[in-house]
Amino acid sequence: SPSRSSVIIVGAGVSGISAAKVLAENGIEEFMILEASDRIGGRIRKESFGGVSVELGAGWIAGVGGEKSNPAWELANNSGLRTCFSDYSNARYNIYDTSGKIIPRKLANELYKKAVDSAKEKMDSAIRSLRSQESNNRGCGGGDVSRVTEPPLEDPLCTPRTPFEHAIDFLLHDFEMAEVEPISTFVDFGEREFLVADERGFEHLLYKMAEEFLFTSEGKILDSRLQLNKVVRELQHSRNGVTVTTEDGCVYEANYLILSVSIGVLQSDLISFRPSLPRWKTEAIQTCEVMVYTKIFLKFPHKFWPCGPGKEFFMYAHERRGYYTFWQHMENAFPGSNILVVTLTNGESKRVEAQSDEETLKEAMGVLRNMFGPNIPNATDILVPRWYYNRFQCGSYSNYPIISNNQLVHNIKAPVGRIFFTGEHTSEQFSGYVHGGYLAGIDSSKALLEEIRKERKTENQNHLLE
Ligand code: FAD
Repeated sequence: SPSRSSVIIVGAGVSGISAAKVLAENGIEEFMILEASDRIGGRIRKESFGGVSVELGAGWIAGVGGEKSNPAWELANNSGLRTCFSDYSNARYNIYDTSGKIIPRKLANELYKKAVDSAKEKMDSAIRSLRSQESNNRGCGGGDVSRVTEPPLEDPLCTPRTPFEHAIDFLLHDFEMAEVEPISTFVDFGEREFLVADERGFEHLLYKMAEEFLFTSEGKILDSRLQLNKVVRELQHSRNGVTVTTEDGCVYEANYLILSVSIGVLQSDLISFRPSLPRWKTEAIQTCEVMVYTKIFLKFPHKFWPCGPGKEFFMYAHERRGYYTFWQHMENAFPGSNILVVTLTNGESKRVEAQSDEETLKEAMGVLRNMFGPNIPNATDILVPRWYYNRFQCGSYSNYPIISNNQLVHNIKAPVGRIFFTGEHTSEQFSGYVHGGYLAGIDSSKALLEEIRKERKTENQNHLLE
């Protein structure tokens, strides 16, 4: 018969590991972590490429230098992770058109200001419409979240039209949203961002964390409470406990379960629940948007792009929004590495994930030749992560409507019976970030510990009555 743990944690990303650590620190030693892939880290993942260690998932510690300290920054400092400061703000001064000309600084500033003003205006109007809907709903006894979070109709005059406007729009909405609206990460922790540039990878933080409560030897985790290559396919739950079945036919039982899989996985049919999750839960899960964000790495025999102050980021203005728009050189992080990174999002990410790497290389080289001329060398290697088509991720991170009430995230986070939910998507303030996942894991474990205490108290009372 299957062995029974106190708690099963599904997923060994940052939230699963931080959740397990809190349980261990509070005397719950009989837990089991089931991880689908062959490693811990989830969306924190390094890979060797072109002689250095590149981050396929989370790359930046975002939110540094403010009044409060970002826990991810603290973990990085405590484990001596090498990082380097990144400054996106220059990107707008390095926008190339398809003939390789750079947009004049003055025009860049004007377009940028126009885009920020228009985005702020949209935001204000969305807030006004939310307030008025909320007051209407109060009048008729509560409302429906999806209606409340609907964005206002787009003003066609504010919609970007030219390639330069597309590039600035992409920069603003996919990278510098903090310029438009307050994002807790930057308000609370500060506006600076640091790129992880360490051979041990961002994931080193997770190994350091795991070392504190799992048995490790020579940097390897050898604790049988962490089971890798265990793809959870079915969760059966009742008032008495939870039974988990994995793809390889193993069965695990526990009193409680913490589910840390991404929102994209929850939206997919990878895991079936018996009985099914209630409607308020499935509706909330389906409503949350999943952002796809893809960093493509290209290795060159030598540099042909400008380096030095203010040049780390550059952009390509194309008539198609998001077409190989946002570029970064790795010279600050790894001098002499001759690596470029281009970031794609959403539709472009999915399109490129679905095609061959040769096709992607051809497209990227076409774009680079438009910017830097026909004589630049071919890339000698390419790396295209596929977060969307990976069935253990199904996307990069959750993207809540900017203007929404908190009901949606509350419902996504709320436990269903003995199943507790965690992961970056359950963080009210910091969803989408490493620190969001880290804090969510702590939060979910604390809520579970409270539940266990309550259960024990009731058991003791019943025992006394007998
Ligand atoms: P995950 O890391 O996804 O952990 C969940 C785990 O569950 C995974 O290991 C998965 O394999 C496992 N799993 C899934 N299904 C099953 C199953 N059926 N059975 C068992 N296990 C399962 N954040 C930042 O702070 N800064 C950044 O610069 C940044 N950039 C990013 C760039 C990209 C490309 C991506 C993808 C993410 C980025 N993020 C960034 C977000 C950050 O990586 C995540 O918020 C965080 O790592 C999520 O951690 P998590 O524990 O919630 O989820």
